Amino acid sequence: MAFSDFPWHQKAWDKFSEARTRKHLPHALLVTGAEGIGKRAFAEKLVQSLLCHQPIDNQPCEQCNGCKTYSAGSNPDFMKIQVNEDKKQISVDQIRALTRFITLSRSFESYRVILLHPVEAMNANAANSLLKSLEEPAENTIIILLVTTLNQIIPTIKSRCQLLSLPKPSRQQALDWLQVNAPDLEDVQVRLDLSFGRPLVVLKAPGSDVNQVADFAKDILQILEETKSIAEVAKTWEKISHKDLIDWQVSWLQAFIKEELTGVKKNIDVNSLVEQHLSKIKMLIKVKPCWDLYQQILEQQKYIHTSVNPLMFLENMLILWFKASHQCR
Ligand SMILES: [Zn+2]
Repeated sequence: MAFSDFPWHQKAWDKFSEARTRKHLPHALLVTGAEGIGKRAFAEKLVQSLLCHQPIDNQPCEQCNGCKTYSAGSNPDFMKIQVNEDKKQISVDQIRALTRFITLSRSFESYRVILLHPVEAMNANAANSLLKSLEEPAENTIIILLVTTLNQIIPTIKSRCQLLSLPKPSRQQALDWLQVNAPDLEDVQVRLDLSFGRPLVVLKAPGSDVNQVADFAKDILQILEETKSIAEVAKTWEKISHKDLIDWQVSWLQAFIKEELTGVKKNIDVNSLVEQHLSKIKMLIKVKPCWDLYQQILEQQKYIHTSVNPLMFLENMLILWFKASHQCR
């Protein structure tokens, strides 16, 4: 999906652009920032600028071979490393491919670029293997690494890269941006608040697959009412992205807490079925346990990219809900 420009990226872009003009680019850039503020779009813009043979004011020209092959997904000087489908981690084999790639000669005159994301998804072997490439940089080669949780990556990687951090947009910037990119979205302000001001989270927040979200809310409700077992529910959700499951729960709990704090009841989800389940769930969990549960669910994010058994991950997560509701009885 192509979005309009992100005005809150401007400062970071200027920093990159100036370094490029002065030919002071580092060989590794660590782009960091919260989830949902457009990190990937920013990194892709850097990549395309670097691959372009005749950038205009460091913006890609869209006309040259570098730009055209990049758009077609076939630029020979570009490599993208991400978590492969059905995998949770970036493997050491993928990093070995990177090491081989940077020893090849370049096809074009511009830079050779590697985009790796998310850095948190590298296992220990992969991270150690990457360190070698960061220690012995190849000529005219730039490795761009994307990271959301900076404290989850090893310090030796951090110290070998130049940090470029993207800020969160101001509330007004985020609202303006949403107005352009999602003009038909209802309850924009509420959604933005529930997403802690991160506009891209708003776009994929509950509703991406409404029926699925409703089913998940219903299953949690049934665990709390003890009409379904945790093991049974965990089995149902084994194949669904852990990240989506956690994102949904986080947004619900944020809304519960906010409602308690402000006393203002707002619909969390535009889908009435989801809303029905959630209001029942909320009756079963009081403020204090709700806050604890919120912290615990956030903690679970740490395990998204680890090789923990999916059933065990889900069961542990669902037990948190069960415990929270039992604290109230
Ligand atoms: Zn170009």
